[in-house]
Amino acid sequence: MTAIAALIFAAIVLSGLLNIYLDRRQAAAVLAHRGSVPAAFASTVTLEEHQRAADYTVARTRLSAIETIYDTGLALLWLGFLLRPLFDFVAAHVPAGLTRSVATMVLVAALSYLLTLPFAIYKTFKLEAKFGFNRTTAATFALDQVKAAALQLALGVPLLYGLFALLRALPNLWWIFAWIGLMAIMVAMIVIYPAFIAPLFNKFTPMADGPMKSGIEALLRKCGFESNGLFIMDASKRSAHGNAYFTGFGKAKRIVFFDTLLEKHTGDEILSVLAHELGHYKFGHVIQKIGESAALALVVFAVLHWAFAAGTLPAAFHLPNDPSLVLMIVMTAIGPFASLFAPVTNYLSRRAEFQADAFAKSMTGAAPMISALTKLTRDNLATLTPDWLYTLFNYSHPPVPERIAHLQS
Ligand SMILES: [Zn+2]
Repeated sequence: MTAIAALIFAAIVLSGLLNIYLDRRQAAAVLAHRGSVPAAFASTVTLEEHQRAADYTVARTRLSAIETIYDTGLALLWLGFLLRPLFDFVAAHVPAGLTRSVATMVLVAALSYLLTLPFAIYKTFKLEAKFGFNRTTAATFALDQVKAAALQLALGVPLLYGLFALLRALPNLWWIFAWIGLMAIMVAMIVIYPAFIAPLFNKFTPMADGPMKSGIEALLRKCGFESNGLFIMDASKRSAHGNAYFTGFGKAKRIVFFDTLLEKHTGDEILSVLAHELGHYKFGHVIQKIGESAALALVVFAVLHWAFAAGTLPAAFHLPNDPSLVLMIVMTAIGPFASLFAPVTNYLSRRAEFQADAFAKSMTGAAPMISALTKLTRDNLATLTPDWLYTLFNYSHPPVPERIAHLQS
């Protein structure tokens, strides 16, 4: 085995072990505190709710550990054994060229999807259902899968053709153009997604006139925020988890509330959740996130450029030097390496959350934000006692007890 193959195999195994270790720590921390509600929540969360949250968290972390073992095994199998016969099969049916590379990628993606589908089914219809969150039916679930697959084929196949053609035409500069192209697609998606893709999956109804809407409009004016619409999304069609978000940029921004959020929260709480989202906008977090993704994409393309030019990667895994196989190896290896940087990106994201909370506090006061966070935690069965090391790697948002402590200070 060459050094580079050994390094990639080691990264896959180590990242799998790290994630299992973190899952075990999380389950242990939650179980250790299952017996009593943390003092700060004694008056807002019952012992029964606290224990249901503990059971839900433990069930999810255990499933996640099993999934990690499965995914790690699959990644090793793909690189060590499966890619070769799969590529030979495609090569026997499709003549050499762009189509062969694209067909290889599509086949690998389709098989990977089928191999992970049982987990998605189990999560939705067993785990989420057991804790009362699942509201989707088998028919909606199946239709979602078909729509998502069709969408991925419609967008992915032309993109792959474009990438492989670019690689062939400009072997030295392709990655700069590919990066510029990806950035253009990302910006276009900000406009295309809410208008064309999200409506394929959910219904968006403009919020009706009334005290709720005028309260929201007053808050938007106070924050100097322009928007071209307030929408309610029928999230309850699939799940009972509540949320709110906004999409788009400039004057075309839309604010979307899950119907599940509106069902369970008071007007003041909803305004504070919205003020938090507006805080992200005010502090430039949206632009910052786009900048982070752009920098990351540039690194990935530089790595790919090296991998395509050097030609050592496929040889290291005894594979033919086809761009689809180079792309597969890099995509399989990148996750484990990236997971080591999760604490850095999570730290940046958590800092942004504290800033947005502080903004919400300055606009609507601390009390409604605190009660909204408490309700969201309680209703989403989020644990109040996570493990600190687990949160460092897995929480993009600070644990709610910390957010509430900040709001109170
Ligand atoms: Zn936030």
